[in-house]
Amino acid sequence: MTRRFDLPKPGDPVVRPEPNESMTDVSRAPGRGSAADDRPTIGVLGIQGDVSEHIAALARTGARAQWVKRPEDLEGIAGLVLPGGESTTLRRLLDYEGLLAKIRERYAAGMPVFGTCAGAILLATEVDGAPAPHLGLVDMTVRRNAFGRQRESFVASLDIEGLEGGPLEAVFIRAPLIERVGEGVEVLASIEGEIVLAETDQALVASFHPELTDDLRLHRRFLDKVQAGSVV
Ligand code: GLN
Repeated sequence: MTRRFDLPKPGDPVVRPEPNESMTDVSRAPGRGSAADDRPTIGVLGIQGDVSEHIAALARTGARAQWVKRPEDLEGIAGLVLPGGESTTLRRLLDYEGLLAKIRERYAAGMPVFGTCAGAILLATEVDGAPAPHLGLVDMTVRRNAFGRQRESFVASLDIEGLEGGPLEAVFIRAPLIERVGEGVEVLASIEGEIVLAETDQALVASFHPELTDDLRLHRRFLDKVQAGSVV
């Protein structure tokens, strides 16, 4: 079911949008383009981790992607992606930039979120047994670095509930597992009996890295949530 995976090294090419696609454009009305161009603007938390890969994937789905570095960057976006990286570092930077409270505020107002790997850890209500350590927005318990040294990084082929187009190749890098989900959180995929993908109406959480493959189905699924919610 799993096999070794050569991790991208610094300097390796990342998936880029088509040349005529704009990767960032902050000049439009909040969350939406003009009537002729109603692509939603999706923010990508851009303080640490694999930010540019998410921006490229979003651009390839047709969304407009915007780096979010400061609280004010959250004003004009219709959804927020929280990339993988290192959750303890991300947490420190969220505090330093004053982003924690503002993300919670936007989420309470209906903004959908997509957390991948460390981003999912940030969203969990419980991490390694400690309640509500970071943003605490999705009722689930995660266990960090859950796969052990021998399998720190690998690719698995996942069958995903309700996702057309067959199994999805999922890249795991020192990934967390979702040990428990609360009411309203639907399990979409598991690996060896442990949850690795789940969702609510407002959140998608993956313990792997969908931005590191060419498969855009999970980014599209997130965009569907954004468009269904239409919060801005
Ligand atoms: N191991 C990291 C953490 O616990 C997550 C790894 C990742 O995002 N690829 O924060």
